[in-house]
Amino acid sequence: MADQLILIIEDNERNLKLVRDVLQFSGFRTAEARTAEDGLALASASPPDLVLLDLQLPGIDGMEAFRQLRGSPPTAAIPVVAVTALAMKDDRERVLRAGFDGYLEKPISVRALPDQVRAFLTAAELPDDR
Ligand code: MN
Repeated sequence: MADQLILIIEDNERNLKLVRDVLQFSGFRTAEARTAEDGLALASASPPDLVLLDLQLPGIDGMEAFRQLRGSPPTAAIPVVAVTALAMKDDRERVLRAGFDGYLEKPISVRALPDQVRAFLTAAELPDDR
């Protein structure tokens, strides 16, 4: 369990490093991409156990990247958690309705993140109706 691979797709360098360091410190393996294009390629090449996907990305945005992950057989079953700084009240609803496995709001809580990631992984292992 502790060696699960988390793919972080995030264009903000500070956020990327923060999330990577916290997850590595908690025993996870990490892979990182700064664009959706790179993240999609990485996810296909070595499918992670979970993707943390920033919604605001240059080029292909997180919503479209999510659609491509779900639409491609090698990555279709990988749990994907949206990470967003969007402040709109209905964003959470919109993201979950789109089929994301979860939602994390920026700023990321360093203290809460490891447990949040574990919870997403555990939820993804349960039989579901996706
Ligand atoms: Mn971003």
